[in-house]
Amino acid sequence: MQDRVLTAPQTIALWAELPGQSMPVDTLIEARPEAWIWGSPTPGGQFRTIIFTDPDTIRQQPLTKVFDSLLSGTSLFAAVVGMPRSDIQTCSVFTYAHVNPWKDNYLRLGEAAFSLDPLSSTGVEKAMRFSLQAVIAINTILKTGQADMAQTFYENKMIESIASHTHWTSGYYAQAWPGQQHSFWHKRSLPYIDPAGQPTSFYNRLKTSSSLPGSRSAKTDQCTGGITPLMA
Ligand SMILES: Cc1cc2nc3c(=O)[nH]c(=O)nc-3n(C[C@H](O)[C@H](O)[C@H](O)COP(=O)(O)OP(=O)(O)OC[C@H]3O[C@@H](n4cnc5c(N)ncnc54)[C@H](O)[C@@H]3O)c2cc1C
Repeated sequence: MQDRVLTAPQTIALWAELPGQSMPVDTLIEARPEAWIWGSPTPGGQFRTIIFTDPDTIRQQPLTKVFDSLLSGTSLFAAVVGMPRSDIQTCSVFTYAHVNPWKDNYLRLGEAAFSLDPLSSTGVEKAMRFSLQAVIAINTILKTGQADMAQTFYENKMIESIASHTHWTSGYYAQAWPGQQHSFWHKRSLPYIDPAGQPTSFYNRLKTSSSLPGSRSAKTDQCTGGITPLMA
């Protein structure tokens, strides 16, 4: 984490396998005042359920109590509260950007470069798209030797993705029905970028772009024009 900055408030995921036979054969998602909850059937006949909430929510009470009380307030998951289930697991959910994604001829791709808030559900598409953009940059170096232009293109594409997703996701958190009076939703409804441990030039550009609503830097578009033709 020392080379990464958070681009959304830290979130905790609590998850468990619920009995599949008591749940629909469908993916479910529901918003609660303190969290949002996602669940989906698994091939083993279970129903994997994940609660995304603030770290504070699990500090004051035992995990089982938090899990059951959040699920019992839902319309979609309440039916399985009290039924046998797997142990509850937790993990931290970090939405981040690397502050030196291209350094010493080493390029980071996918979640080694940046991750998205889980609400976006587009991490796979984003990892694939960014890999193709990195291929364009590498191809440009191989064909023309213009490493600076290639690096600028790669970095601008990464900044553009993070800035767009940060604004889209915060917009969705702002619109969700539990409302801005609940701190979980309010905190995530504003574009967010943490102060970097190391304020690299990439971080400074990311920070400037992320604070511009709907940002799309003019530089990125110029670079695309210069590099894309080399794909063929
Ligand atoms: C529960 C959950 C639900 C999700 N749902 C969605 C969704 O619905 N839609 C969506 O688009 N995205 C979803 N995502 C996000 C998506 O999975 C990621 O954004 C995406 O997989 C990132 O791709 P990646 O190639 O960067 O990393 P990964 O898919 O994590 O691939 C990295 C690979 O590298 C391997 N690896 C790691 N270290 C080494 C090493 N030292 N040597 C060799 N191999 C190594 C790992 O084993 C892994 O296979 C979800 C993620 C989670 C956790």
